[in-house]
Amino acid sequence: MRKTYFTPGPAELYPTVEQHYRDAFDQQLGSISHRSQKFRDIYKHTVEQLRILMDIPESSGIFFTGSATEIWERIIQSTVEHETFHLVNGSFSKKFYDFSNELQHHAHKFEKPFGEGFDYAEITVPEYAELICTTANETSSGVQMRPAEIHKLKRANKDKLVCVDMVSSAPYPDLDFNTIDSALFSVQKSFGMPAGLGCWIANQAMLDKASKILESGASIGTYHSLPSLWKNYEKYETPETPNVMAIYVLGKVAEDMNKIGVSTIRKETEKKAKVLYDFVEKSDYLDIFVKNPEHRSQTVVVVNVNEKSPADIIKQVQAEANMVIGSGYGSFKDSQLRIANFAAVNLEQVEQLIDVLKTI
Ligand SMILES: *Cc1c(COP(=O)(O)O)cnc(C)c1O
Repeated sequence: MRKTYFTPGPAELYPTVEQHYRDAFDQQLGSISHRSQKFRDIYKHTVEQLRILMDIPESSGIFFTGSATEIWERIIQSTVEHETFHLVNGSFSKKFYDFSNELQHHAHKFEKPFGEGFDYAEITVPEYAELICTTANETSSGVQMRPAEIHKLKRANKDKLVCVDMVSSAPYPDLDFNTIDSALFSVQKSFGMPAGLGCWIANQAMLDKASKILESGASIGTYHSLPSLWKNYEKYETPETPNVMAIYVLGKVAEDMNKIGVSTIRKETEKKAKVLYDFVEKSDYLDIFVKNPEHRSQTVVVVNVNEKSPADIIKQVQAEANMVIGSGYGSFKDSQLRIANFAAVNLEQVEQLIDVLKTI
Protein backbone atom coordinates (compact mmCIF):
# COMPACT_ATOMS: atom_id res chain seq x y z
CA MET A 1 0.00 0.00 0.00
CA ARG A 2 1.22 3.48 -0.86
CA LYS A 3 2.40 5.78 1.87
CA THR A 4 1.67 9.49 2.06
CA TYR A 5 4.81 11.48 2.84
CA PHE A 6 4.53 14.52 5.07
CA THR A 7 8.32 14.66 5.26
CA PRO A 8 9.94 18.02 4.47
CA GLY A 9 12.13 16.69 1.67
CA PRO A 10 12.37 14.43 -0.12
CA ALA A 11 8.63 14.72 0.10
CA GLU A 12 5.34 13.39 -1.26
CA LEU A 13 5.43 13.55 -5.06
CA TYR A 14 3.07 15.99 -6.73
CA PRO A 15 0.15 13.86 -8.00
CA THR A 16 0.97 14.29 -11.70
CA VAL A 17 4.72 13.62 -11.47
CA GLU A 18 4.58 9.89 -12.14
CA GLN A 19 2.59 10.34 -15.35
CA HIS A 20 4.92 13.10 -16.55
CA TYR A 21 7.93 10.81 -16.02
CA ARG A 22 6.12 8.04 -17.95
CA ASP A 23 5.49 10.50 -20.79
CA ALA A 24 9.15 11.51 -20.64
CA PHE A 25 10.16 7.86 -21.14
CA ASP A 26 7.60 7.45 -23.94
CA GLN A 27 9.22 10.43 -25.66
CA GLN A 28 12.68 8.87 -25.02
CA LEU A 29 13.87 12.03 -23.33
CA GLY A 30 16.66 10.07 -21.66
CA SER A 31 18.33 9.73 -25.04
CA ILE A 32 17.88 13.08 -26.76
CA SER A 33 20.79 15.44 -27.28
CA HIS A 34 20.93 18.49 -25.06
CA ARG A 35 22.00 20.40 -28.18
CA SER A 36 18.81 19.47 -30.03
CA GLN A 37 15.77 21.65 -30.78
CA LYS A 38 13.70 19.18 -28.75
CA PHE A 39 15.73 19.99 -25.63
CA ARG A 40 15.67 23.74 -26.30
CA ASP A 41 11.88 23.55 -26.53
CA ILE A 42 11.73 21.74 -23.18
CA TYR A 43 13.98 24.29 -21.45
CA LYS A 44 11.93 27.15 -22.96
CA HIS A 45 8.63 25.61 -21.85
CA THR A 46 9.87 25.13 -18.29
CA VAL A 47 11.11 28.72 -18.18
CA GLU A 48 7.79 30.04 -19.51
CA GLN A 49 5.76 28.10 -16.97
CA LEU A 50 8.01 29.15 -14.06
CA ARG A 51 7.72 32.80 -15.18
CA ILE A 52 3.92 32.55 -15.03
CA LEU A 53 3.90 30.64 -11.74
CA MET A 54 6.28 32.89 -9.84
CA ASP A 55 5.84 36.11 -11.84
CA ILE A 56 9.49 36.20 -12.92
CA PRO A 57 10.27 39.01 -15.40
CA GLU A 58 11.79 38.30 -18.82
CA SER A 59 14.90 40.21 -17.75
CA SER A 60 15.85 37.52 -15.21
CA GLY A 61 17.55 34.34 -16.32
CA ILE A 62 16.46 30.89 -15.13
CA PHE A 63 19.17 28.23 -14.86
CA PHE A 64 19.46 24.57 -13.90
CA THR A 65 22.05 22.97 -11.63
CA GLY A 66 22.49 19.71 -9.74
CA SER A 67 21.01 20.92 -6.43
CA ALA A 68 20.23 23.95 -4.28
CA THR A 69 23.39 23.29 -2.29
CA GLU A 70 25.31 23.81 -5.50
CA ILE A 71 23.55 27.13 -6.11
CA TRP A 72 24.64 28.47 -2.69
CA GLU A 73 28.21 27.95 -3.84
CA ARG A 74 27.64 29.33 -7.34
CA ILE A 75 25.97 32.50 -6.04
CA ILE A 76 28.88 33.25 -3.76
CA GLN A 77 31.51 32.34 -6.37
CA SER A 78 29.86 34.42 -9.08
CA THR A 79 28.88 37.57 -7.21
CA VAL A 80 31.16 38.10 -4.20
CA GLU A 81 34.61 39.66 -4.08
CA HIS A 82 35.03 40.08 -0.33
CA GLU A 83 32.01 40.17 1.98
CA THR A 84 28.62 38.53 2.47
CA PHE A 85 25.89 38.98 5.07
CA HIS A 86 23.61 36.14 6.21
CA LEU A 87 20.46 35.92 8.28
CA VAL A 88 21.06 32.68 10.19
CA ASN A 89 18.40 30.89 12.23
CA GLY A 90 18.83 27.20 11.54
CA SER A 91 20.88 24.56 9.77
CA PHE A 92 20.26 25.59 6.17
CA SER A 93 20.87 29.32 6.57
CA LYS A 94 23.98 28.40 8.60
CA LYS A 95 25.35 26.25 5.76
CA PHE A 96 24.95 29.11 3.28
CA TYR A 97 27.00 31.24 5.72
CA ASP A 98 29.60 28.46 6.12
CA PHE A 99 30.03 28.25 2.35
CA SER A 100 31.06 31.90 2.20
CA ASN A 101 33.73 31.31 4.85
CA GLU A 102 34.90 28.15 3.10
CA LEU A 103 35.25 30.13 -0.12
CA GLN A 104 37.51 32.45 1.90
CA HIS A 105 35.24 35.46 2.00
CA HIS A 106 34.46 37.57 5.00
CA ALA A 107 31.02 36.28 6.01
CA HIS A 108 28.98 38.36 8.46
CA LYS A 109 25.89 36.98 10.13
CA PHE A 110 22.96 38.13 12.21
CA GLU A 111 22.01 35.01 14.11
CA LYS A 112 18.81 34.19 15.96
CA PRO A 113 18.08 31.16 18.14
CA PHE A 114 16.50 28.11 16.49
CA GLY A 115 12.77 28.79 16.14
CA GLU A 116 13.02 32.59 15.85
CA GLY A 117 12.68 34.69 12.71
CA PHE A 118 13.66 38.03 11.24
CA ASP A 119 11.88 41.32 10.69
CA TYR A 120 13.39 44.06 8.57
CA ALA A 121 13.48 46.67 11.35
CA GLU A 122 15.98 44.79 13.51
CA ILE A 123 18.49 44.05 10.76
CA THR A 124 21.68 46.09 10.38
CA VAL A 125 23.53 45.24 7.19
CA PRO A 126 27.33 45.63 7.36
CA GLU A 127 28.49 48.48 5.15
CA TYR A 128 30.76 46.47 2.87
CA ALA A 129 28.55 43.40 2.43
CA GLU A 130 28.04 42.79 -1.29
CA LEU A 131 25.47 40.01 -1.02
CA ILE A 132 22.63 39.60 1.51
CA CYS A 133 21.52 35.98 1.94
CA THR A 134 18.03 35.29 3.25
CA THR A 135 15.98 32.12 3.67
CA ALA A 136 12.26 32.31 2.88
CA ASN A 137 11.65 29.13 4.86
CA GLU A 138 14.20 27.69 7.29
CA THR A 139 13.32 24.01 6.89
CA SER A 140 15.10 22.84 10.03
CA SER A 141 13.12 25.03 12.44
CA GLY A 142 9.90 25.86 10.58
CA VAL A 143 10.50 29.62 10.47
CA GLN A 144 9.53 31.82 7.53
CA MET A 145 10.74 35.26 6.54
CA ARG A 146 7.81 37.12 5.01
CA PRO A 147 8.31 38.52 1.49
CA ALA A 148 7.43 42.07 2.63
CA GLU A 149 10.37 42.00 5.08
CA ILE A 150 12.74 40.74 2.37
CA HIS A 151 11.54 43.47 -0.01
CA LYS A 152 12.16 46.17 2.63
CA LEU A 153 15.64 44.79 3.16
CA LYS A 154 16.41 45.17 -0.55
CA ARG A 155 14.85 48.63 -0.86
CA ALA A 156 17.03 49.86 2.01
CA ASN A 157 20.14 48.26 0.46
CA LYS A 158 19.85 49.00 -3.24
CA ASP A 159 23.62 48.85 -3.75
CA LYS A 160 23.73 45.24 -2.49
CA LEU A 161 22.49 42.03 -4.06
CA VAL A 162 19.71 40.18 -2.22
CA CYS A 163 19.18 36.48 -2.74
CA VAL A 164 16.45 34.26 -1.32
CA ASP A 165 16.63 30.54 -0.61
CA MET A 166 13.11 29.28 -1.44
CA VAL A 167 13.91 25.55 -1.38
CA SER A 168 11.17 24.44 1.00
CA SER A 169 8.53 27.00 0.11
CA ALA A 170 8.51 27.86 -3.64
CA PRO A 171 6.09 28.78 -5.16
CA TYR A 172 4.33 29.80 -1.92
CA PRO A 173 6.21 33.05 -1.11
CA ASP A 174 4.86 35.94 -3.17
CA LEU A 175 8.27 37.43 -3.87
CA ASP A 176 8.70 40.44 -6.14
CA PHE A 177 11.34 39.42 -8.66
CA ASN A 178 11.62 43.04 -9.78
CA THR A 179 12.87 43.82 -6.28
CA ILE A 180 15.04 40.90 -5.19
CA ASP A 181 18.06 39.96 -7.30
CA SER A 182 18.16 36.19 -7.08
CA ALA A 183 16.37 33.11 -5.74
CA LEU A 184 16.96 29.39 -5.68
CA PHE A 185 15.16 26.14 -5.07
CA SER A 186 15.55 22.42 -5.63
CA VAL A 187 12.68 20.23 -6.73
CA GLN A 188 12.34 17.51 -4.08
CA LYS A 189 10.64 19.67 -1.47
CA SER A 190 7.76 22.02 -2.21
CA PHE A 191 7.65 21.10 -5.93
CA GLY A 192 7.07 17.43 -5.11
CA MET A 193 9.53 15.88 -7.55
CA PRO A 194 12.34 13.32 -7.19
CA ALA A 195 15.63 15.02 -6.24
CA GLY A 196 18.35 15.85 -8.73
CA LEU A 197 17.69 19.36 -10.02
CA GLY A 198 18.37 22.84 -8.71
CA CYS A 199 16.80 25.95 -10.18
CA TRP A 200 18.50 29.36 -9.99
CA ILE A 201 16.85 32.66 -10.88
CA ALA A 202 19.14 35.69 -11.28
CA ASN A 203 18.80 39.22 -12.65
CA GLN A 204 21.05 41.46 -14.76
CA ALA A 205 22.66 43.02 -11.65
CA MET A 206 23.89 39.56 -10.63
CA LEU A 207 25.33 38.98 -14.11
CA ASP A 208 26.96 42.43 -14.16
CA LYS A 209 28.63 41.74 -10.81
CA ALA A 210 29.94 38.38 -12.05
CA SER A 211 31.29 39.98 -15.23
CA LYS A 212 33.02 42.69 -13.19
CA ILE A 213 34.75 40.12 -10.96
CA LEU A 214 35.78 38.12 -14.02
CA GLU A 215 37.25 41.22 -15.67
CA SER A 216 39.27 41.95 -12.54
CA GLY A 217 41.08 38.67 -13.14
CA ALA A 218 39.62 36.74 -10.20
CA SER A 219 38.10 33.27 -10.56
CA ILE A 220 34.33 32.84 -10.45
CA GLY A 221 34.32 29.10 -11.10
CA THR A 222 34.01 27.24 -14.38
CA TYR A 223 31.05 25.71 -16.24
CA HIS A 224 28.40 26.77 -13.73
CA SER A 225 29.56 30.35 -13.26
CA LEU A 226 26.70 32.77 -13.85
CA PRO A 227 28.11 34.11 -17.18
CA SER A 228 28.57 30.56 -18.48
CA LEU A 229 25.04 29.54 -17.47
CA TRP A 230 23.61 32.78 -18.89
CA LYS A 231 25.39 32.47 -22.25
CA ASN A 232 23.94 28.99 -22.68
CA TYR A 233 20.51 29.99 -21.35
CA GLU A 234 20.22 32.56 -24.14
CA LYS A 235 20.03 29.58 -26.52
CA TYR A 236 17.95 27.54 -24.00
CA GLU A 237 20.91 25.27 -23.50
CA THR A 238 23.05 24.28 -20.53
CA PRO A 239 26.86 24.19 -20.29
CA GLU A 240 26.90 20.47 -19.43
CA THR A 241 24.65 17.49 -20.11
CA PRO A 242 21.75 18.28 -17.76
CA ASN A 243 18.97 16.34 -16.08
CA VAL A 244 16.69 16.60 -19.11
CA MET A 245 13.93 14.46 -17.61
CA ALA A 246 13.68 16.59 -14.47
CA ILE A 247 13.75 19.86 -16.43
CA TYR A 248 10.87 18.48 -18.53
CA VAL A 249 8.86 17.32 -15.51
CA LEU A 250 9.43 20.60 -13.64
CA GLY A 251 7.90 22.46 -16.60
CA LYS A 252 4.92 20.10 -16.62
CA VAL A 253 4.39 20.40 -12.84
CA ALA A 254 4.60 24.20 -13.09
CA GLU A 255 2.06 24.03 -15.92
CA ASP A 256 -0.26 21.91 -13.74
CA MET A 257 0.14 24.41 -10.91
CA ASN A 258 -0.63 27.27 -13.30
CA LYS A 259 -3.87 25.55 -14.30
CA ILE A 260 -4.88 25.67 -10.64
CA GLY A 261 -3.43 29.15 -10.26
CA VAL A 262 -0.73 30.21 -7.86
CA SER A 263 -3.12 32.32 -5.77
CA THR A 264 -5.30 29.24 -5.21
CA ILE A 265 -2.23 27.18 -4.29
CA ARG A 266 -1.17 29.87 -1.82
CA LYS A 267 -4.64 30.05 -0.26
CA GLU A 268 -4.82 26.25 0.04
CA THR A 269 -1.37 26.20 1.64
CA GLU A 270 -2.50 28.74 4.24
CA LYS A 271 -5.74 26.88 4.88
CA LYS A 272 -3.96 23.54 5.45
CA ALA A 273 -1.35 25.24 7.65
CA LYS A 274 -4.11 26.80 9.76
CA VAL A 275 -5.83 23.44 10.19
CA LEU A 276 -2.53 21.90 11.31
CA TYR A 277 -1.56 24.72 13.70
CA ASP A 278 -5.11 24.85 15.17
CA PHE A 279 -4.94 21.14 15.87
CA VAL A 280 -1.49 21.39 17.49
CA GLU A 281 -2.61 24.32 19.64
CA LYS A 282 -5.45 22.22 21.09
CA SER A 283 -3.46 19.00 21.37
CA ASP A 284 -2.49 17.93 24.87
CA TYR A 285 0.84 16.40 23.81
CA LEU A 286 2.00 18.74 21.03
CA ASP A 287 2.99 22.42 21.09
CA ILE A 288 3.70 24.85 18.27
CA PHE A 289 7.47 25.44 18.27
CA VAL A 290 7.61 28.86 16.60
CA LYS A 291 6.09 31.31 19.07
CA ASN A 292 5.64 34.36 16.81
CA PRO A 293 2.68 33.60 14.48
CA GLU A 294 4.12 35.89 11.76
CA HIS A 295 7.32 33.83 11.66
CA ARG A 296 5.54 30.48 11.58
CA SER A 297 6.22 28.58 8.37
CA GLN A 298 3.23 27.93 6.14
CA THR A 299 4.97 24.99 4.44
CA VAL A 300 6.86 23.15 7.21
CA VAL A 301 5.05 22.86 10.54
CA VAL A 302 7.43 22.16 13.43
CA VAL A 303 5.99 20.94 16.73
CA ASN A 304 7.37 20.14 20.17
CA VAL A 305 6.38 16.75 21.54
CA ASN A 306 5.65 16.51 25.28
CA GLU A 307 5.99 13.32 27.34
CA LYS A 308 6.07 11.06 24.29
CA SER A 309 8.78 9.89 21.96
CA PRO A 310 8.67 11.49 18.48
CA ALA A 311 10.09 8.26 17.04
CA ASP A 312 7.17 6.29 18.52
CA ILE A 313 4.65 8.76 17.09
CA ILE A 314 6.25 8.48 13.64
CA LYS A 315 6.03 4.67 13.87
CA GLN A 316 2.45 4.70 15.07
CA VAL A 317 1.24 7.10 12.36
CA GLN A 318 2.86 4.93 9.73
CA ALA A 319 1.41 1.70 11.15
CA GLU A 320 -2.11 3.07 11.47
CA ALA A 321 -2.44 5.28 8.42
CA ASN A 322 0.52 4.64 6.12
CA MET A 323 1.54 8.24 6.58
CA VAL A 324 5.13 9.35 7.11
CA ILE A 325 5.87 12.47 9.12
CA GLY A 326 9.30 14.01 9.51
CA SER A 327 11.52 13.87 12.58
CA GLY A 328 12.94 16.97 14.22
CA TYR A 329 16.14 18.26 12.62
CA GLY A 330 19.51 17.19 14.05
CA SER A 331 19.58 17.43 17.82
CA PHE A 332 15.81 18.15 17.86
CA LYS A 333 15.10 14.58 16.73
CA ASP A 334 14.16 13.49 20.25
CA SER A 335 11.84 16.38 21.01
CA GLN A 336 10.20 17.56 17.78
CA LEU A 337 8.33 16.51 14.66
CA ARG A 338 8.22 18.26 11.29
CA ILE A 339 5.11 18.03 9.11
CA ALA A 340 5.49 19.23 5.54
CA ASN A 341 2.55 21.13 4.10
CA PHE A 342 3.50 21.22 0.43
CA ALA A 343 1.17 21.46 -2.57
CA ALA A 344 1.41 17.68 -3.15
CA VAL A 345 -0.80 16.94 -0.11
CA ASN A 346 -4.40 18.09 -0.06
CA LEU A 347 -6.70 19.20 2.76
CA GLU A 348 -8.33 15.79 2.98
CA GLN A 349 -4.96 14.11 3.56
CA VAL A 350 -4.04 16.70 6.18
CA GLU A 351 -7.34 16.02 7.97
CA GLN A 352 -6.69 12.26 7.85
CA LEU A 353 -3.28 12.84 9.42
CA ILE A 354 -4.84 14.94 12.17
CA ASP A 355 -7.43 12.22 12.86
CA VAL A 356 -4.63 9.72 13.42
CA LEU A 357 -2.61 12.13 15.58
CA LYS A 358 -5.74 12.65 17.72
CA THR A 359 -5.82 8.94 18.63
CA ILE A 360 -2.27 8.99 19.99
C1 LIG B 1 16.99 21.14 1.56
C2 LIG B 1 17.39 22.55 1.58
C3 LIG B 1 18.53 23.00 0.89
C4 LIG B 1 19.44 22.06 0.15
O1 LIG B 1 18.78 21.49 -0.93
P1 LIG B 1 19.50 20.33 -1.79
O2 LIG B 1 18.53 20.05 -2.85
O3 LIG B 1 19.70 19.17 -0.84
O4 LIG B 1 20.78 20.85 -2.25
C5 LIG B 1 18.82 24.34 0.91
N1 LIG B 1 18.05 25.22 1.56
C6 LIG B 1 16.94 24.85 2.24
C7 LIG B 1 16.12 25.88 2.93
C8 LIG B 1 16.57 23.50 2.26
O5 LIG B 1 15.47 23.13 2.92
